[in-house]
Amino acid sequence: MILTQCAVCATELGLSLGKKCGRCSTRYCGPECQVQHWKEGGHDTLCKKIKKAGGAEQYNANEKYAEAVAVAAEACADDTKGQTCYICTQALHWKTKEGLVRGCACRGTAGFAHVSCLAEEAKILFAEAEENNLDGKALESRWARWYECSLCEQRYHGVVYCALSWACWKTYLGRPESNRARIAAMTELGIGLYAAGRFEDALSAQKADMATLRRIGASEHSILDVQTNLANTYGALGRHESALHMKRDVYSGRYTLFGKEHRETLRAANNYAFSLVSIQHSEEARSLLRKTMPVARRVLGENDELTLSLRGVYALMLFTPDDATLDDLREAVSTLADAGRIARRVLGSGHPTAVRIEQSLRQARAILSTREGDVEPLRAAVEAMAPGDA
Ligand SMILES: [Zn+2]
Ligand SMILES: [Zn+2]
Ligand SMILES: [Zn+2]
Ligand SMILES: [Zn+2]
Repeated sequence: MILTQCAVCATELGLSLGKKCGRCSTRYCGPECQVQHWKEGGHDTLCKKIKKAGGAEQYNANEKYAEAVAVAAEACADDTKGQTCYICTQALHWKTKEGLVRGCACRGTAGFAHVSCLAEEAKILFAEAEENNLDGKALESRWARWYECSLCEQRYHGVVYCALSWACWKTYLGRPESNRARIAAMTELGIGLYAAGRFEDALSAQKADMATLRRIGASEHSILDVQTNLANTYGALGRHESALHMKRDVYSGRYTLFGKEHRETLRAANNYAFSLVSIQHSEEARSLLRKTMPVARRVLGENDELTLSLRGVYALMLFTPDDATLDDLREAVSTLADAGRIARRVLGSGHPTAVRIEQSLRQARAILSTREGDVEPLRAAVEAMAPGDA
């Protein structure tokens, strides 16, 4: 994560409290921890190495990046056996000796790559756009190479996303605090850590991100983006009330800023509805989803990841309450079966949205068959009681 704690006692320092090692910028809550780190924490031998790497933040990011690449390559090992990188054409990276990964919707023999090769490409493309002063749209599409596969145009997911987000952060962290690429990289890191299920680390990166944005007076738009990520992380950590409040704010903020048909507004609605469903506020969830789903289907289309995700949340809202009716359960199963089919075809069966829908479908079917089972014997019993012909 981003270094916001004392290196010795882990006291939270935010972006500016405490003091730094004069040589390598390692952060401490005060002189006592610093002295202890030097004498007993091995800092006397590490300090030079950290300074040489470019300071504490850079050193930490480099280390975390190498760990994340190893984790990603390990997780992809079965999938990538016998394949080669589509960028450098080798199985093992010539310099780092890292293995291959694939964490997008590419199938067959497509899309295998080294995290280092993907990162190098993204870095070069973005640098080119900056040097040539390309417009905001071009910058954004180049930046997308940090989080989206250029072949299948789907977002990376899981540990592959996480490794790339460390690559992104270590590339731009040395820039001034208000630099757009540095801020965007910090946001990527938060999302990447979340994608890998490292929620505590994601929370710390996202809090630092938010503090930075507030400090430099960033736009409402950027703040809403980070609030969204923060809300998801609160949700994942089980802090549902915090998540709910934040998601409601983001939804109404986006609605006001962009209108009801904008993708960002629809995404915010999806997030807010999911929170409502998870704490069983079914009525509110129902009215929000009834309003939002038709808009998503019309504006984004049936094959869009967000439309599929909304349908998944709608089904959850139908089948998870204890008092769900048989009609609710049947509608949930048919919604999930249909959305699941589309998700597998469009996103690939390994995509998180496809996986989530598949899991929900299994649960909904299990509940439905139990409930139908309850009803069948009852009906048989009633029929048995029916008076026979006189
Ligand atoms: Zn300390
Ligand atoms: Zn030092
Ligand atoms: Zn490669
Ligand atoms: Zn791909």
